[in-house]
Amino acid sequence: MSYFRKVLIANRGEIARRIIRTCKKLGIDTVAVYSEADAEAPHVSEATEAVCIGPAQAKKSYLNVEKVIQVAKKTNADAIHPGYGFLSENPEFVRRCEEENIVFIGPSAETIRLMGSKLEARVQMQKAGVKVVPGTDRSLDSVEEAVLVANELGYPLMLKASAGGGGIGMQLVHDQEELIKVFDGTKQKANSFFNDGTVFLEKWILNPRHIEVQIVADTYGNVLHLFERECSVQRRNQKVIEESPSPFLDDALRKELLEAAVRGVEQINYTNVGTMEFIFDENKNFYFLEMNTRLQVEHPVTEEITGLDLVEWQLKIAAKKPLAVTQEEINQTGHAIECRLYAEDPYTFFPSPGVISSLELPENEARFDFGYINGSAVTPFYDPMIGKIIVHGISRDHALAKMQKVLEEIDIHGVKTNLLLLKKIMRNDQFMDGSYTTAFLEKNKGQLVKE
Ligand code: ADP
Ligand code: ADP
Ligand code: MG
Repeated sequence: MSYFRKVLIANRGEIARRIIRTCKKLGIDTVAVYSEADAEAPHVSEATEAVCIGPAQAKKSYLNVEKVIQVAKKTNADAIHPGYGFLSENPEFVRRCEEENIVFIGPSAETIRLMGSKLEARVQMQKAGVKVVPGTDRSLDSVEEAVLVANELGYPLMLKASAGGGGIGMQLVHDQEELIKVFDGTKQKANSFFNDGTVFLEKWILNPRHIEVQIVADTYGNVLHLFERECSVQRRNQKVIEESPSPFLDDALRKELLEAAVRGVEQINYTNVGTMEFIFDENKNFYFLEMNTRLQVEHPVTEEITGLDLVEWQLKIAAKKPLAVTQEEINQTGHAIECRLYAEDPYTFFPSPGVISSLELPENEARFDFGYINGSAVTPFYDPMIGKIIVHGISRDHALAKMQKVLEEIDIHGVKTNLLLLKKIMRNDQFMDGSYTTAFLEKNKGQLVKE
């Protein structure tokens, strides 16, 4: 018995390959879709069948709802896996899948709409008794309104796009002058990037840690957590390194966090895997930041410490099967670390597209979830992440030592990458002792990128 006969994967790169892997394991056929820029991409040849869906620009291919639906119908796919990014958090796409009787592997359109709005999510979480970052719970429509609210909250503040994602659409403001200066621009950016100009204000937390909780929930009301992931090594408010367990949490605090995450998810009738993101201040108070209603880039960290296949669980839940596992049966074993290898300039963090002229990975020593192979082109059209390196050890020190060794053995040429940066972080005192915060990378950049 299999969950589905044929699954269309509405994505590209490493995550498309990752989903194909689990489908193959379960004997499910796959349909890859690809843009003209991706004709040679590895996910295309690895799927059972593949269909070109348009030109390179994501809007004309991977984000083209009708085209993806049309291909799913034509190839008789009974379900669509959206991966992350692209159409994964698009309620209109989910609605279209429902109309065509194609299973969307994810939550309902309504839940995605609710959690896709950081503002609405704040309201829901407060109803569940989960603390949110102090801030406003309504949209700020004019700069005058924003100034009034800001005076009540006190600076510094984060001006945020409610629909934002990928670290885009948030702006730190230190005082009134700065707020007035950036308000209209942030709103416009929110509008052009996310088609939604709603912005709100949140207290800016100083030297915080980003710690998130992996959740799974089936259609029978069972909600389980799969422990936390520490994601405080970031640049441009986007993660670069993730690990689990978090070196910041003791058992009591971890328990409190996991309970809050489960309570929050129980509030919203959620189904699918999902991530509750929290931010911790220097006094170990934690606040809900947002929820991502999809598979997360860093899900392998959780797979390594739990031994579970999260893509399989997504398929199972979408096929309306019960989880059939209890919380007590899920363990956090050993320690896992993930590094994201990006084709980017290590100084400016700007994408650096090009052809990967050589790529060598010590395949037996770590898990490599890569979207590219030797000879692949990293184009400017999509996210510049080349792949993820994941290690698992019996302790944090053991995992660290493994990662240090594996990174030394990677050989990549043709594009600029952050490989040296990753190597240096793995040997940095503050990373090694686990005391780093989200400010770590930007603050230490100078010494971390020096040859
Ligand atoms: P994660 O939240 O899983 O850690 P990222 O923030 O790196 O991962 O985002 C994963 C991918 O999804 C990136 O390609 C990013 O640009 C994209 N993405 C995330 N959120 C959004 C959004 N709201 N709108 C458009 N793209 C998004
Ligand atoms: P996105 O949807 O882009 O992932 P998040 O709200 O999850 O947006 O924030 C991304 C990152 O930005 C966080 O992990 C954190 O490092 C930083 N950040 C967000 N809100 C705050 C805040 N109020 N104070 C300090 N840092 C923040
Ligand atoms: Mg986030």
